[in-house]
Amino acid sequence: MLKHAHAEHPVHESTQKTPVAALARVILKPRKARPFFGRHPWVLDSAIQRIEGQAEDGDEVLLVSDQGQPIARGILNRRSRLLVRLYTWDTSEPLDDKFWRERLQRAIELRVRLGYDDQEGAARLVYSEADGLSGLIVDRYGRDLVLQVNSLAMAKRLDRLTPMLVELVGPRSMVVRTDRQTLQHEGMDLDDGPCWGELPEGPVFIREHGLKYGVELHAGQKTGFYLDQRENRRAAAAYAHGQRVLDMFCYSGAFSLTVRSLGEAREVFGFDSSHPAVALARANAEMNGITGVRFESGDAFATLEGLHASGEKFGLVILDPPKFAHSRQAVDDALKAYHRLNRAAVALLPPNGILVTCSCSGHVSREDFLHMLADVAQRTDRNIQVLEQRGAAPDHPVSATCLESEYLKCMICRVS
Ligand code: SAH
Repeated sequence: MLKHAHAEHPVHESTQKTPVAALARVILKPRKARPFFGRHPWVLDSAIQRIEGQAEDGDEVLLVSDQGQPIARGILNRRSRLLVRLYTWDTSEPLDDKFWRERLQRAIELRVRLGYDDQEGAARLVYSEADGLSGLIVDRYGRDLVLQVNSLAMAKRLDRLTPMLVELVGPRSMVVRTDRQTLQHEGMDLDDGPCWGELPEGPVFIREHGLKYGVELHAGQKTGFYLDQRENRRAAAAYAHGQRVLDMFCYSGAFSLTVRSLGEAREVFGFDSSHPAVALARANAEMNGITGVRFESGDAFATLEGLHASGEKFGLVILDPPKFAHSRQAVDDALKAYHRLNRAAVALLPPNGILVTCSCSGHVSREDFLHMLADVAQRTDRNIQVLEQRGAAPDHPVSATCLESEYLKCMICRVS
């Protein structure tokens, strides 16, 4: 039974099948068109000269150069600095139901092709700009979908998109999650909560690499599980055989359980500052019948120092901290924090130990991160060899024309 929890955001029927001539035109300032001919999807208000014609926030518009050349079709939001989000560079293609359905279908087909369609597994089905659907993320946890709605454009179309997802995926339930800051940036109002079907009571269970995890769809971090690290967990496991492993920032224990179970690590210690995360990790270990893993709560910096002071060594250290840089201005401070963390981790590694070090700060580039590691090598008088430079799992693609969609770095290093 369809529930229209978002009926307060009806789609403007007028935007369906609007011929190009009738669309409001958003005219760029001189010399501002290049990135948009280059298929970058974000048009900032500072690039805009004027808007010709009638368009409400959430309506389809045509982006035009100052010379009058049509560039792309997008959706207007005057309340946001991101004034237009672009969705198609075929200026004759209307952003109608057929268009959205095809976009969703194309995104879902990719995950099938990747083999990420295990019905008991989890996968990111739609990843915003990287799937041509700026402002929409859809994660599938078994038969339940979590929708992160990050743009007014997608919020206004939610009532049309949810039945399409029902048809294409056949979920048991769908729940909407929003982020307060994003709501503010987009000037929109949208409630978190179930938007279709019956959400099960308590956690939902998923499988990854043969291990079972409980995921809290209402209360968990992000959308409940760090799906982007899926392949990195398996990669880390390949270095774990017989090792003592430290999993710093363990959340619900996925790296720990993977290195112990698939990787046959000797013993694993996981730490996280969040008590609920540690409780989840312990429950996950127990549910899988995995012994030899211990989870404790603790601050990473203090714990690393404490372990060093008591002379502990680990053959494999995993660092998967939360996002340190939330803006470009914060990059320097973030790099200092990464430096401190990695330096402290290196101190726990014997010669030829393995460091799996991650950063999910999009503003910190791969190059910046490698420079930080070079500095750690210099200060600690150790050699650091980068064995694998990894990113997010392929259900989190990177759009070649929107490099902001690349954020996760996972470097596997030997430290001698
Ligand atoms: N490795 C995890 C994901 C880690 S996300 C996985 O594979 O699922 C980052 C984690 O860092 C969060 O669980 C958060 O609770 C924790 N965290 C944040 N600040 C911390 C700190 N100062 N010390 C320890 N853990 C911290």
